[in-house]
Amino acid sequence: MIDLEKLRDSNFSLTKNGHVASYIPALARVSADQLGIAVYDLKNNKLYKTEQSDIRFAIESISKVITLLYAIKQRGFDEVNNRVSTRQTGFAFNSILNLEIEHENKPLNPFVNAGAIMTTSLIKPQDELTPFEQILAFAQEICHDPDLSLDEEIFYSEDETGDIDRSLAYYLKAHKMIQDNVTDSLRTYFKQCSMKVTAVSLANLGAVLANDGVKPWDNERIISSRAATFTKSLMMTTGLYNESGVYSARIGVPTKSGVGGGLMSAVPNKYGIGIFSPSLDKDGNSVAGLGLLTDLSDALKLDIFK
Ligand code: GLN
Repeated sequence: MIDLEKLRDSNFSLTKNGHVASYIPALARVSADQLGIAVYDLKNNKLYKTEQSDIRFAIESISKVITLLYAIKQRGFDEVNNRVSTRQTGFAFNSILNLEIEHENKPLNPFVNAGAIMTTSLIKPQDELTPFEQILAFAQEICHDPDLSLDEEIFYSEDETGDIDRSLAYYLKAHKMIQDNVTDSLRTYFKQCSMKVTAVSLANLGAVLANDGVKPWDNERIISSRAATFTKSLMMTTGLYNESGVYSARIGVPTKSGVGGGLMSAVPNKYGIGIFSPSLDKDGNSVAGLGLLTDLSDALKLDIFK
């Protein structure tokens, strides 16, 4: 493995660019000068990591990958595919215009908020567990992180400030895209965004996706090959919102971001990558994180189109 600490050091000054998310106090007080990376190498089944890769932060939108995978596991690929589209968005992740312009009576994709609320709503209570209890248990398993847990303070603030997400959910309900009680789905959505992960947990998640749905640490399949392939292609086309095309052309690695500062990438059959750096660009993607990922992609020749 290349020298990850050196790569981290050379991108550290980028943590001064952009701003940490400020819509809730628990995110606004996160210090910007943090950058950590973990890389799971499938070739030798080893995890490589730097300083600050064990710091816990809010998973936010990267949870949309986890609920998509879990919804496919619980409800089947066809049902999920019938209820949410796979189109790109030219708008912000929480845009309501996304819904106005759709023409299939489906939210545009599972990684914008409307589509994520839809996927979350598909998860039903099972074996006396609530949808969120199932999502949390699944997240702990697929991230190989038994300490992954809900941050109550973040959940409380997400719920308190989540009126745009509420608007999206009620729009979905008004247009009969969601039939059920949206209040429960919104609570589950706010909770899934408030789970705390590390760069290491995200590298593990990326490694499962890169390894066709099989957990490389115990060789057990946790998701179908079809779910892994589908999710990676969506990460490539919509994982970084409006900037997905730009980074697809520049980095060429399926990646999902979150406003907590996380990036999770899956390089098919090679690596799972997790990065944490909380300062964000205007689209809500980690600035130093994307700098580091660009350099890593060049150094390890990760571009899947090469
Ligand atoms: N909780 C955030 C929201 O719903 C997640 C957004 C993100 O990470 N892009 O607005």
